Amino acid sequence: MNEQTKVTDATPIKTLPDAQTVLDVEHYTDRLFRFRVTRPPTLRFRSGEFVMIGLMGDPDPKTGRQKPLLRAYSIASPSWDDELEFYSIKVQDGPLTSKLQHIKKGDEIILRPKPVGTLVHDALLPGKRLWFFSTGTGFAPFASLLRDPQTYEDYDQVIVTHTCREAAELTYSKNLIQHLHEDEMMQELLGDGLKKLVYYPTTTREDSPKMGRITDLLENGTLFKDLGIDGISAETDRAMVCGSMGLNLDIKRILEGHGLREGANSEPAEYVVEKAFVG
Ligand SMILES: Cc1cc2nc3c(=O)[nH]c(=O)nc-3n(C[C@H](O)[C@H](O)[C@H](O)COP(=O)(O)OP(=O)(O)OC[C@H]3O[C@@H](n4cnc5c(N)ncnc54)[C@H](O)[C@@H]3O)c2cc1C
Repeated sequence: MNEQTKVTDATPIKTLPDAQTVLDVEHYTDRLFRFRVTRPPTLRFRSGEFVMIGLMGDPDPKTGRQKPLLRAYSIASPSWDDELEFYSIKVQDGPLTSKLQHIKKGDEIILRPKPVGTLVHDALLPGKRLWFFSTGTGFAPFASLLRDPQTYEDYDQVIVTHTCREAAELTYSKNLIQHLHEDEMMQELLGDGLKKLVYYPTTTREDSPKMGRITDLLENGTLFKDLGIDGISAETDRAMVCGSMGLNLDIKRILEGHGLREGANSEPAEYVVEKAFVG
């Protein structure tokens, strides 16, 4: 059992198994927040992968024993970062996030250091233009990939779409893109950044400069018209998709209509998909 033990004076105090310390928490809305934790020195991962994280569950009423309550989370920070960042939903009656939303600096979370996932560069064949299609917290793996220099070294252009119900739910992605455009190190990679990294946020409920489901905007050609491009082709375009089951299925259908095939770590192809959550 991988339990860590802290010794203070005479009394040993057990911390959580695979414990990491919370360094920073930022809340965006009553449904969304992000937090940063320490990174286990031995943890290696590829930008875009996910791990299991969580907290101890409530004590069993009969035995008093507590079991870890773990959920899959995309690592939102890039592989080079010394710390780990996560971007999270708050489900009010959700077993984990009803508690996780209250974490603060200095608290501990559990992190199982076994990263996996298909939203990685290795699962795509070389291409010229890379699309990231996301809804809600599905932006998290792209927050990692967008901060990874390989993304800009491998592609001429990167287009990231993020769709949420309300404008405030776009704050995390908007801040991150703005930071990338302003970052001196990134400016070298981005060149004329406004063309190389394109951000296309849309809302489905609240009024915003661009409204609509990304699938509709793709199918009726609005997206291509707005970006001044001809369309998607299997020769040049690669895509990563992370959203609800419905969004993933719809985008898969659209991409396959353009001739792209689904890839995997074992067999790279033109696009890859991962669920942002189960349900
Ligand atoms: C591969 C993978 C990666 C994931 N990465 C993230 C991530 O980076 N950030 C994150 O917040 N969640 C992520 N999730 C979802 C996460 O695992 C949990 O479901 C979420 O934290 C809620 O946990 P819970 O115990 O509070 O509620 P759960 O019992 O897990 O979920 C309750 C219900 O809430 C809804 N729900 C759960 N998660 C979300 C979500 N993210 N967005 C909208 N509705 C949701 C679903 O309807 C679900 O049935 C990921 C899931 C998978 C499969």
